[in-house]
Amino acid sequence: MKIVALETIRPAVQPNLLFVRLHTDTGLTGLGEAFYGARAVEAYLHESLAEVLLGVSDPTPERVAGLLTGYVGYQGAGVETRGNGAVDIAVWDLLGQVSGLPLTDLLGGTVRDEVAIYNTCAGPGYISSSARQEARNWGVGSGERYEDLRAFLTDPAGLARDLWDQGIRGMKVWPFDTAAERTGGTEISQADLDQGLAVLAAVREEVGLGMRLMVELHGLWSRPAAERILVALAPYRPYWVEDPLRADATAAYARLARVEGVPIAAGETCVGRRGFMPLLDSGAVDVLTLDIQWTGGLTEARKIASLADAYAVPVAPHDCTGPATLATCVHFVCSQPNGLIQETVRAFLHTWYDALVTGLPEISGGVARPGRAPGHGVRLREDLPDAQRRTTRL
Ligand SMILES: [Mg+2]
Repeated sequence: MKIVALETIRPAVQPNLLFVRLHTDTGLTGLGEAFYGARAVEAYLHESLAEVLLGVSDPTPERVAGLLTGYVGYQGAGVETRGNGAVDIAVWDLLGQVSGLPLTDLLGGTVRDEVAIYNTCAGPGYISSSARQEARNWGVGSGERYEDLRAFLTDPAGLARDLWDQGIRGMKVWPFDTAAERTGGTEISQADLDQGLAVLAAVREEVGLGMRLMVELHGLWSRPAAERILVALAPYRPYWVEDPLRADATAAYARLARVEGVPIAAGETCVGRRGFMPLLDSGAVDVLTLDIQWTGGLTEARKIASLADAYAVPVAPHDCTGPATLATCVHFVCSQPNGLIQETVRAFLHTWYDALVTGLPEISGGVARPGRAPGHGVRLREDLPDAQRRTTRL
């Protein structure tokens, strides 16, 4: 089997998403994807990576991984890493199709048949107008069934009840981000603290402690301000507080971890085993929220999971980044001994994920189950509306 074409597809519905298809001379096609800066990743793939990939025979993940590492661009989740991650996922998908096995089997089989999910409370248009993680890019709509971002800001109790009634026992909110944007994260006022805490209080009052409550801080804070937030959050028993600081502030993480009763999750922007090592060495992180595509692909992600296991730290893969990645995540988390829980975004699942692909994992009653189709199982719908395509052939 030989790779004969690299095709990229940018769907209009989510301008940050880039699908990557590797075509082979057998007719099999592997699907991967990259999120953020889709045009830049597309240019890298066609102008730099295609010449490396086209003509490669029997592309196995480890063999291709050796080809993907360039002289520059291997540290940080930059364009090269995101493009490489998309290719890596596509190669795993090809391997699954050649062997007729789902990714879980290729990864050694299931440790668990299903995994608990939590809902990230975004709306369908979240992070779709630019490649910035900021309030201006929240894309908050009005009136949509799953506008969960507006809901957590305006009716957190109603949202918590709605999720609870769907069997979902985990929810993630980020009620402090606008305060961070106002001060550059240097400090938080009592009024801003109280406003964010009111969201958590409403959820706890409505559904109690049975709801896992994740508080996302998006790495926006200085250490003293983050410490103030964590101390204030402790009485609400968060399941974790995510990215209180940028992930490379490892010494500050070590100090922040002294706050009692608030587990810290981090890592979705870290790349590779060597990128995770300082965070694990800091001893500050209770959960690794690695992103399978941003970290360079599944080949690296499974090694990171093993590394985390050596530190007795569980992994909870990030999903805000596309349907093939989510499917890959579910196979991954169900096949890793330290797989904890899977992030999902119901607003995406029920809108643009479903509009773009078939073969998503079965998600209901608060759990996700990996499919039995070969590879990750996700296939593009053939009639994608308004999609920009570009192909480089052998
Ligand atoms: Mg996050």
